Amino acid sequence: MRTTSYRPSLFTGCDIAGLTVNEISKKNGLGAFDKVLLVKTWEWTAKSQNMQTNPDKRDDELYLRRAFDVARSSRENGDHPFGAILVDAEGAILLEQTNGFSAHCGDMTAHAERLLATRASQAYRPAFLASCTLYSSAEPCAMCAGAMYWAGIGRLVYGQSEKSLKAQTGAHDENPTLDLPCRAVFASGQRPVEVVGPLLEDEAASLQAGFWTAG
Ligand SMILES: [Zn+2]
Repeated sequence: MRTTSYRPSLFTGCDIAGLTVNEISKKNGLGAFDKVLLVKTWEWTAKSQNMQTNPDKRDDELYLRRAFDVARSSRENGDHPFGAILVDAEGAILLEQTNGFSAHCGDMTAHAERLLATRASQAYRPAFLASCTLYSSAEPCAMCAGAMYWAGIGRLVYGQSEKSLKAQTGAHDENPTLDLPCRAVFASGQRPVEVVGPLLEDEAASLQAGFWTAG
């Protein structure tokens, strides 16, 4: 869905009106973060000028790549290369979370999705979180899927599968991957969790490249 009653060129430097976020991003070579900014700019523009717009609010690949950016940031800052973000039904990014193993003094449970689910539950009630999506660079383990379930987050999109991740981490002391499909965890619950993934798995797997064998 889209409307054409706005002129993004005034705000983004794009020379096209009436195209979707993906179409404009592809034509202008925008990265994932710039695409998020484009969405937010559109929303702000539409709101400030009382216009209607619907710029691909649930563009899963756009938001998943933002989670990849968070994972890269995690790695650059000395933590494990995982990232997660929480997006509401209107497309707003509410929370971003890196892995916290090193930042939390070696906490083996400080996975990005678990930390994000805890922060989300402290900030929002399950009735609201049911309409939100958690984007994760890798498939949540049983612990993280459980935390998502208990927080009440209603939708998950993940990049790399646990099985693929396990092939990269092996039995690494800091990440002996627990390869239980998250869908199996959610299927045991009493409220539904929609799952999309694996998605962009090669990109997601590249986040781990050389990390678990480097030291
Ligand atoms: Zn986990």
